[in-house]
Amino acid sequence: MKDVSTVNVDRGRIPLSEQIYLGPIVRGLTVTLRHFMRNLFGHKDVATIEYPEVKRQYSERLRGRHILTTRDDGSLRCVACYMCATACPAQCIRIVAEENPDAPVSAEKRPKVYEIDLLHCVFCGFCVDACPEEAIIMSRQHEMAFSSRAEAIVGIDELRQKGPIDQEDLGYRPYF
Ligand code: SF4
Ligand code: SF4
Repeated sequence: MKDVSTVNVDRGRIPLSEQIYLGPIVRGLTVTLRHFMRNLFGHKDVATIEYPEVKRQYSERLRGRHILTTRDDGSLRCVACYMCATACPAQCIRIVAEENPDAPVSAEKRPKVYEIDLLHCVFCGFCVDACPEEAIIMSRQHEMAFSSRAEAIVGIDELRQKGPIDQEDLGYRPYF
């Protein structure tokens, strides 16, 4: 059987400019320069925008920052079932459950702690897909800045729905 574990590259057949990456670098700089000149002379069809003054209209399926939705009485819809945390490929959701004394159904749980590490999150939306209660949804808010790793771990207070949600602010929903 042919041994495919090693591949011999005949470097003598690769041009010197490619060997020292000169060709790709020059081609890349040419593209950059071309776009720079087009921007400089005010072409209308340039790909860049003057962010943050100008913002793009993103898709309604954009996977932005999460929201923990609430019921009419303001309590979290989350029943701490851990399905989102189980489905999360980045393992960035931490839930600590407790019994909900106000629940109409006995032994219903609620999250005592619900945290998402937004620096680990890959914004895949699997947590939204997995949730049986529509207790976690995604907004279209994608502008996030943190000055420390600890700041990027957001809890119930930051994630909780703040008043009515405008349809314009809603992001990825599996049924949409
Ligand atoms: S969007 Fe994906 S990575 Fe982020 S918390 Fe949800 S399941 Fe995890
Ligand atoms: S957000 Fe949804 S899936 Fe996650 S623990 Fe709460 S109810 Fe379960």
